[in-house]
Amino acid sequence: MKQKPEKDLFPETARAMAAGLRQAAAFGLKKLPKRTASTPAPAAASTGPQPADSSEKEQRLAPIREAALACTKCRLCKERTHVVFGDGSLDAQLLFVGEGPGRDEDAQGIPFVGAAGKLLNKILDAMKLRREDIYICNVVKCRPPQNRLPEPDEIQACWGYLKAQMETIRPKVICCLGKTAAATLLQTKAPMSKLRGSDWAWEGIPLIVTYHPAYLLRNPLAKGDVWIDMQRAMALLRGES
Ligand code: SF4
Repeated sequence: MKQKPEKDLFPETARAMAAGLRQAAAFGLKKLPKRTASTPAPAAASTGPQPADSSEKEQRLAPIREAALACTKCRLCKERTHVVFGDGSLDAQLLFVGEGPGRDEDAQGIPFVGAAGKLLNKILDAMKLRREDIYICNVVKCRPPQNRLPEPDEIQACWGYLKAQMETIRPKVICCLGKTAAATLLQTKAPMSKLRGSDWAWEGIPLIVTYHPAYLLRNPLAKGDVWIDMQRAMALLRGES
């Protein structure tokens, strides 16, 4: 009997890989990277309180947003054009945390609208998500001058806003974009090489770490690593352990 070609023996796998390649190509990844062994998860599944409905969340977050828009708690207030509080759905299951607003974000008052934001949109496209499906915010809400890293005292001053956003939205998964966000949420000085590829948690919410899209603009070869991380995010969203 004539043997079936191998790809027909695993049609689902072949189709999934082809779909994965098409999705990944959407943000510039030419081929799927090899999957690396994942590190044992220090994270526990979410055991926190059940999220409120969106109108209740809006009521909770509105005064916090108002306070942030008038905030002068750190030196970053001096040169800002706009406070960039956050953007997206309060019912989001996936919440991204970046570092701080850049020039375009400061000008428009919306996070991730510059070149890095456009790349993030492509990553979301590849995940079959829209901006309005997710929530995105930063560790600091005002632009650090010349896009420098936020200082520890600035991060500390702004922490209450981010904490309120995460506690109110209570997503299914948090994704830290870059080391500053990961260091803030996980209270660690570990390098990205130790942070990526593991499951973490913040207040019982599963958390993963990936590269910031601005890093990808400078290092396009890291797109493969980000795609692996986004596949893990999607698995966590599906409730897989
Ligand atoms: S960065 Fe945060 S703490 Fe500092 S002024 Fe802006 S909103 Fe206030």
